[in-house]
Amino acid sequence: MNNYDLKQEQTLVIVKPDGVQRGLIGEVIKRYEQCGLKLVALKMLIPTADQALAHYSTDPTWAITTGSKAIAFAKERGEKLFTDDPIEYAENIRNNCKKFLSSGPVVPMVWQGMNAAKVVRKITGVTDCTMSVPGTIRGDYALDSYTTSDADNRSIRNIIHASGTADEAKLEIPVWFKPNEILKFRYVPELIMYDINLDGILE
Ligand code: GDP
Ligand code: MG
Repeated sequence: MNNYDLKQEQTLVIVKPDGVQRGLIGEVIKRYEQCGLKLVALKMLIPTADQALAHYSTDPTWAITTGSKAIAFAKERGEKLFTDDPIEYAENIRNNCKKFLSSGPVVPMVWQGMNAAKVVRKITGVTDCTMSVPGTIRGDYALDSYTTSDADNRSIRNIIHASGTADEAKLEIPVWFKPNEILKFRYVPELIMYDINLDGILE
């Protein structure tokens, strides 16, 4: 056991069907890999509708928070709403997300490291790609917005899913990986990134 092992967390990233079709799997992996995170699980599959739905249903507060937030923002953007009920609005978002995520191959992966969830979100960029800054994955490779996707009643095509927090990741990871598919191994660069005394560098 190293002095930095217990300070680490895990987070889930999924390259969504648009990211796979646009040939961005390697680019996405490169960006998380080069910041020092350790890749501990990876697979490629076509999700069933049930699996996609399970991914968006794990957090019991998701519907109410996402629905309320989405309605407020849609009103700010001057969009016409089909309902004022946050749960109903969120259900529609969830249904669109399910349709999109199960529309083709995806690449889920688990990244581990110090501040993994926060760092992955920073590299990913915000959900609406017209607001995600250059240098982020969504800012560099996507152009979809809430307004354009809402107008077509479809999910926003923003290349990846990334867990919002490490606690969210704990609910999402089991939807995609069995415990024995998440590898435990020594990642040598962690010594220089995290070790308190830097023992073992000098001969
Ligand atoms: P993410 O973690 O950045 O992907 O965003 P969320 O966890 O908040 O939402 C998950 C997915 O739900 C997003 O990728 C969107 O497709 C959809 N979604 C979230 N918020 C909104 C919203 O305000 N309006 C619409 N139309 N879709 C949303
Ligand atoms: Mg999220």
